[in-house]
Amino acid sequence: MGDPSCIFCRIAAGDIPAAKVLDTAEATAFLDIGPLAPGHTLLIPRQHYESILDVSPAILAAVAAELPRLARAIINATGAEGLNVLLNTGASAGQVVPHLHWHLIPRRAGDHLGFRWNAGRYAEGESDAVRSAIVAALNA
Ligand code: 5GP
Ligand code: ZN
Repeated sequence: MGDPSCIFCRIAAGDIPAAKVLDTAEATAFLDIGPLAPGHTLLIPRQHYESILDVSPAILAAVAAELPRLARAIINATGAEGLNVLLNTGASAGQVVPHLHWHLIPRRAGDHLGFRWNAGRYAEGESDAVRSAIVAALNA
């Protein structure tokens, strides 16, 4: 099982080293090799899914179920005040490794780890059209 060309499959299988913090039947978590802050952790399904677009809901639920205790452990261990949980999907959204993963990034006031959040505004009627399109896609 696993894609031998996928770095995270190889980490899940133990074929290449990683600083693992958690291993379950469905999930594994390990320190990001390029941390945005000490304790920056990646949580992944052991099975290969490229992104949230192709994972099964059951696997996603099993892996996501680890988020609360992992988040608490990271906060307790690092003394962080908060945490960002981030899931990048696709290259345009910053996904570099094509194996589904959550980033858990410890945060504290004044850490200057800001994300650009350029909030926009809908034009008159635009949100109705966008909402309708999403609802139609959900029901397709
Ligand atoms: P993405 O940009 O795909 O959301 O995030 C990929 C993350 O994986 C990056 O933050 C990067 O530092 C991390 N990463 C890439 N290769 C390795 C590796 O071989 N080992 C570990 N521990 N992290 C990795
Ligand atoms: Zn993989």
